Amino acid sequence: MSEKVVKIPKIISVCELAKRLEVSAASVVAELMKNGVMATINENVDYETAAIIAEYLGVTVEEDVDANTSTSCKVEPVTTDRSKTQKRSPIIAVMGHVDHGKTKLLDAIRKTDVISGEAGGITQHIGAYQIEKKGTKITFLDTPGHAAFEEMRAHGAQITDIALIIIAADDGIKPQTIEAINHAKRAETPMIMVINKIDKPGADANRIYQQLAEIGYVPESWGGKTICVSVSAKTGDGIDELIDMILLVSEMLDLRADYSALASGVIVESHMDSGKGPVATMLVINGTVRAGDCVQIGETYGKVRSMDDYRGRRLKEATPGMPVKIAGIKNVAQVNEPFTVFCDEKDARDAAEYYKQSRSAKRYSEVKKINLESITDSIVKSGTKEFAIVVKADVQGSLDAITTALEKFKTPEVSVRVVGGGVGDVNEGDVTMASTASKLIVAFGVQASGQVAGYAKNEGVKISSYRIIYELLDDIKAAVEEMLPPIVTELTQGKLEVLQVFSTTKKMTVAGGKVVEGKIDKGSMAKVLRGDEEIGRIKVASVHKGKDETDSCQIGGECGLGIDGKVDVQPKDIIVTFTIQTQKQTIDVKI
Ligand code: GDP
Repeated sequence: MSEKVVKIPKIISVCELAKRLEVSAASVVAELMKNGVMATINENVDYETAAIIAEYLGVTVEEDVDANTSTSCKVEPVTTDRSKTQKRSPIIAVMGHVDHGKTKLLDAIRKTDVISGEAGGITQHIGAYQIEKKGTKITFLDTPGHAAFEEMRAHGAQITDIALIIIAADDGIKPQTIEAINHAKRAETPMIMVINKIDKPGADANRIYQQLAEIGYVPESWGGKTICVSVSAKTGDGIDELIDMILLVSEMLDLRADYSALASGVIVESHMDSGKGPVATMLVINGTVRAGDCVQIGETYGKVRSMDDYRGRRLKEATPGMPVKIAGIKNVAQVNEPFTVFCDEKDARDAAEYYKQSRSAKRYSEVKKINLESITDSIVKSGTKEFAIVVKADVQGSLDAITTALEKFKTPEVSVRVVGGGVGDVNEGDVTMASTASKLIVAFGVQASGQVAGYAKNEGVKISSYRIIYELLDDIKAAVEEMLPPIVTELTQGKLEVLQVFSTTKKMTVAGGKVVEGKIDKGSMAKVLRGDEEIGRIKVASVHKGKDETDSCQIGGECGLGIDGKVDVQPKDIIVTFTIQTQKQTIDVKI
């Protein structure tokens, strides 16, 4: 670990930061990525970010307040300078309860594509597709699902700009609808409520409005702020209006990217192709990917050998918002992981290696947190006063009962919040959500498969299973109580009325008096009262009877006290000695 202090300006490019820290640019990029910042070597980071990265790399830094922005590398602000950026396509995810029509809606939207009439290409499922309307391209992630959404978030790669929450008009809001809304809310992703299946006889949009209002999402047409669009994925009714609404919301979001930067983005699909080897669909977020570019994706890397769009058409380059299927990487990449383009293959390989090492170190350190005590421990240590839990239950009735009971455990010091969950077995999405909260899933009458349990272990998430509701609540109550500060009480031991002050030095006052209550012990803590007012706190350093030193003086007795403390003790003051009692705080709620 370096002892010297490296000066860093307020804004610094990634390559200059690497140079100053005397590490490879690849390791800085990888470290940034691990912290959820996708930056290429030409991009800038601010001092706070640079300092965090430096700390991880074991280098001490301080801000160079006199310096101008570092310009020894090619430094071009990418995200802040509007003249360098252009509009990019919005990226849309579709979420909602099973069978409410997510897949059919994605198909219906795909069919409206104006470029679909163009020659060439057969639709392929590569994880995402684009349509064009009014000259603007819109990107849809075509693997609907909450797990994918949360996983991206956990990887620090939350790329969804707008979430479409699909609600079947003949079925209404269901547990997974709520889960979808919670996911989007936690990620602060704008939502559009899509009321689907309006063609069906039992469909009633007003009933859905009512249900949305009940959970705090009042529709715009009722004077609220929630955007709702009614559609039929079957007949195509309302799809145009939905796309117009997506364009309107994205316009307000003002999404921009630097097309000239080295590209970065996220992997949305990945598998081993029998002919091409490992292939992956990259969704470009910033910069432009070109055939022949060197790319690092998590722990793997390679050279982009071929690049196809979702219609199987060969491309030479891909700009922000475009999903492209590439071949040429060494191993199968992980879905939801970020990718970065580097100037040469060696840098990409170094970045992949560095990423691998830091990820295994991170996994190792997180595994230590798997038990309830250490969860509360880590919350207390981090000063977080929120206990954010994911709850899974067998039926809606028990889920409601548990959620209501848990919320009663709120105290002024600790808030208990159910941040996600629902009915059904614990799945990977639950684990991912818990990993961004208090790392605890309570499973009532449901299970986690071996695969999910393994994933939870890797993410440092504890799954606590229960069959009896009172045991579950008792455990959580105990965990919350552990997080509460103890109640401190002072128990009076004795009182002495000061009759005379013999001597006062800087360190010690010697005073004599009569014990009027209890007893005065040597070594006790005490407060000095003048009338009703406390004028200070002292320690009884010694107790004397005549010339002899003693340990204690009982009620009625007269004694001299050696007083330790800077308090100006006067005759008639009352010295009250006390002991401290600490008591664990408990929550007084009827379960
Ligand atoms: P997902 O599980 O949310 O992806 O739901 P699907 O897209 O698979 O749709 C579930 C079922 O609902 C299928 O049988 C669809 O044909 C049907 N469905 C979806 N959208 C509509 C719609 O707008 N109207 C009608 N009548 N049926 C629909």
